[in-house]
Amino acid sequence: MTALLTGTDRTLGRPHITGVLTRHGGALDADLVVDAAGRNSPVSKMLTDVGAPRPVDDHADIGFRLYTRYFRSTDGTLPTQAAWPLDHHDSVSTITVPGDSDTWALSLAVSGRDQLLRALRRESAGQRAAALYPNVAHWATTGEPITGVLAMSGTESRIRRFVRDGQPVATGLVSVGDAWAATNPQFGLGMAMSMVHAAILRDLVRTTGPGEPEKLALAFDEATHATLAPIHQGLAAWDRHRLAQIDGEISGIPYEPEDPDWNFRQFLEAAKLRDPEILRAMGEVASTLATPDEALAPPGLPERVVRLGTGAPHHPEPGPSRAELLEAIAS
Ligand SMILES: Cc1cc2nc3c(=O)[nH]c(=O)nc-3n(C[C@H](O)[C@H](O)[C@H](O)COP(=O)(O)OP(=O)(O)OC[C@H]3O[C@@H](n4cnc5c(N)ncnc54)[C@H](O)[C@@H]3O)c2cc1C
Repeated sequence: MTALLTGTDRTLGRPHITGVLTRHGGALDADLVVDAAGRNSPVSKMLTDVGAPRPVDDHADIGFRLYTRYFRSTDGTLPTQAAWPLDHHDSVSTITVPGDSDTWALSLAVSGRDQLLRALRRESAGQRAAALYPNVAHWATTGEPITGVLAMSGTESRIRRFVRDGQPVATGLVSVGDAWAATNPQFGLGMAMSMVHAAILRDLVRTTGPGEPEKLALAFDEATHATLAPIHQGLAAWDRHRLAQIDGEISGIPYEPEDPDWNFRQFLEAAKLRDPEILRAMGEVASTLATPDEALAPPGLPERVVRLGTGAPHHPEPGPSRAELLEAIAS
């Protein structure tokens, strides 16, 4: 789609969207246009082109950079699954992602500000770095690489809001999934959140159809912000803390904020592989099967997290210091 089509306004001063124009010049009429055009959806610009106020777009200035290499088994052997797919270390997080057709990926996630770790783009440096993390080293030595190291940035957290001053910026159109909000891909939550979002819209149009476009737009905004926005905010807060923690690891000044949520997350990292009930609770949150409050509801569970996490190292999984990593990838 290249542009939005409009009809008679249904809310004073706000355009009513009645369809889209395709790049071949065809017009597609619709009772409701659903923008599912992903993280870089052009719909905000298209809305202003038809006279709508610009949706509120809140995005982080800096994000993470991912260095990813894909591998394939040569004999059907797959690397042993890591106990948890995401580990955090001094300046680096490791992510192990199983794929189909006997393939898998190993990613190293660093701060977008970290100039020295740009060396991880080189295949030899990436392999030497991976070898330093015992939990995942075998993910880079089993099978054969089928790509070089692929660098990816532009993964900043962002959220758009389509209601301004109590009114929808337009009627006849809603945005779902990443077009509404995109999260740090390290957590692998985007698809689950997008599916929940689509289900919210499905449920809503059963009771409030496109015939009531302003009511539908406001109700969808409200349901979205009651259900999914807290997850997005939690992940965005984690991003800010983690990037600041990495800044501290680069500068050598420890990052020790007085934020109970962040400190509890640190305790969880240390406790998750030492208590099966805590691990299950984290798995439920990571799969959007439960909210953090629901997952931590069993009596005594939060106290166990604090007990196991107190005094534990910031990065409980084995791995190199930043200095050791830099030395290894420089050689
Ligand atoms: C590196 C990385 C790893 C990830 N890993 C995971 C994971 O492990 N688990 C997980 O749950 N999520 C993961 N995610 C997030 C997940 O990919 C997204 O949350 C999910 O794809 C969002 O779905 P969507 O349908 O909203 O958007 P998308 O999947 O981005 O789809 C948008 C579609 O719209 C199309 N489009 C764009 N503009 C136009 C236009 N003008 N006209 C017509 N079509 C258009 C695009 O071509 C695309 O096909 C990851 C993301 C990244 C970047």
